[in-house]
Amino acid sequence: MDLSRLRNVSIIAHIDHGKSTLADRILEICGAVDAREMREQYLDSMDLERERGITIKLQSVRLDYRDHVINLIDTPGHVDFGYEVSRSLAACEGVILLVDASQGIEAQTLANCFLALEHDLEIVAALNKIDLPAADPDLYAGEIERVLGIPADEVLRISAKTGDGVPELLDAVVERIPAPVGDLDAPLQALIFDSHFDQYRGVVSSVRVVNGELATDAKVRFMQAGTVHEANEVGVRRPEPTAVKSLGPGEVGYLIAGIKDVGEARSGETVTSASKPAPSALEGYQEPKPMVFCGLYPVEGDEFSDLRDALEKLRLNDASFTYVPETSGALGFGFRCGFLGLLHMEIVRERLEREFDLSLIATAPSVEYRVIRTGGEVVEIDNPSEMPSPGEMEGIEEPYLKITILTPSTYTGTVMELCQGKRGVMKNLEYLSPERVELQYEIPLAEVVMDFFDQLKSRTQGYASLDYDPIGYQASQLSKVDILLHGDPVDAFSMIVHKDFAYDYGRKMCEKLKELIPRQQFDVPIQAAIGGKIIARQTVKAFRKDVTEKLYGGDITRKNKLLQKQKAGKKRMKSIGRVDIPQEAFISALKLD
Ligand code: GDP
Ligand code: MG
Repeated sequence: MDLSRLRNVSIIAHIDHGKSTLADRILEICGAVDAREMREQYLDSMDLERERGITIKLQSVRLDYRDHVINLIDTPGHVDFGYEVSRSLAACEGVILLVDASQGIEAQTLANCFLALEHDLEIVAALNKIDLPAADPDLYAGEIERVLGIPADEVLRISAKTGDGVPELLDAVVERIPAPVGDLDAPLQALIFDSHFDQYRGVVSSVRVVNGELATDAKVRFMQAGTVHEANEVGVRRPEPTAVKSLGPGEVGYLIAGIKDVGEARSGETVTSASKPAPSALEGYQEPKPMVFCGLYPVEGDEFSDLRDALEKLRLNDASFTYVPETSGALGFGFRCGFLGLLHMEIVRERLEREFDLSLIATAPSVEYRVIRTGGEVVEIDNPSEMPSPGEMEGIEEPYLKITILTPSTYTGTVMELCQGKRGVMKNLEYLSPERVELQYEIPLAEVVMDFFDQLKSRTQGYASLDYDPIGYQASQLSKVDILLHGDPVDAFSMIVHKDFAYDYGRKMCEKLKELIPRQQFDVPIQAAIGGKIIARQTVKAFRKDVTEKLYGGDITRKNKLLQKQKAGKKRMKSIGRVDIPQEAFISALKLD
């Protein structure tokens, strides 16, 4: 392969700015798919992605354009998956920055561009959707010039929908993005930038060869893992997988090496030759760390082992979530799971329910706290029920983020109000143009994982965007609020809350549960407590009448039927002390509002 004719490029775009549509047009223009086979969002293969319109798993495709080869590497657009963006950048020499010409550049897109600049990548900027009446390409080209230093007259104007300007964009990719460099005679060094599990083929890894040659049937060594495998198949996606003899320097493709667990072919791994190994590995990535945790429990207790199997299978495909068994007095046997963010949590849960046919109860999301015990020992807890009582600890710290919000300036006030209400501290405010503002806050992660993103969107009619960076732990005034039913604490409802919000959480939970818990034969007090101190209380009043009374004592079969029905209903109840609670009550009470 003549290196000078090769271009490796990723598309950076905010969600909904048209990346998938652009990829479809590019595939068509390069003749990669027959018009007959063309379906919308061709590269977004996972059903869930298609439905939610987000790209999660990286896909790369090799295309012929003029007398060049372009490897197009798709990237996910959601803030939870930011680390996947940096992976795909490591496989490229340049990026296409795609910005909706009626919206302007968004916070994460900007962050990803800075990442690309740090990697010394060439940026080809394009404003999309110029066919829309609301498009204002002049305004937003000016903005791109101001924030990124890319001259406004170099910003291309396209419509991914109509195809207008897309060939010119490909010309710019060929002309402006440099060809890769690499040494064919040097020992093999190839970077794995994604791995996924295929039911039939095992682990399929996306690779970028940096030096040397990755050949089918060669014995390869994974330098970090220290394992040796046979390269059963090396190939390229055109976009259908197509086996090749070998991949040379600068080339992007896939590797199948008889591996069963994605954890053994991690992103950032360097592949070298087993017989002639490279002296050093390539620079890898930091493994993403789970930031949000929740308990997942089967609604039916006997589905516990099904849930375990499902988690095991799902993890083969997504090494970024974690799970360990845990037991809850209220919910029985389940797992404590860790996720990259709230969307990631929702996606994993939805896949478990949908692909493995499970019904699940998820406890309220939590972050990882650092508790300093009396005597100085530091423990990390991600489950409120593990928190020591107030007398047994000296302090507690929680993770903080630096967040960047880009918003139309008319919403500045409401965004500031939201951030302050979530314990945020303003660090910077800057006008990108008279119409748009960039705000920076330091804010507890716990506040952001609850409903921050939804609130930000609704307060700004969807116009504000958010990017975040973890900045470590800070001491906070936090307490654990317990919920007691008839005097017994229900672990699933315990929550770690800032002291200013503790009373509110306790009161709301008591009110909610009062509506959800059916009457029993006796009064059931519902209490919220911090340590031994009750902070809120409600009561579910006892039944007054026997259910069968209204049947006039007459028809015995009808009476039996009713009792049967009650019994069946009982099976779906959990008993907390003497109180029976229907599953539905847990599900509804734990829903965020
Ligand atoms: P992604 O989230 O970045 O992959 O965005 P999509 O490609 O899924 O596009 C989001 C929405 O914008 C879809 O409804 C597309 O049909 C629409 N869209 C994409 N490009 C254009 C364009 O050039 N013009 C118009 N009018 N709509 C577009
Ligand atoms: Mg998409």
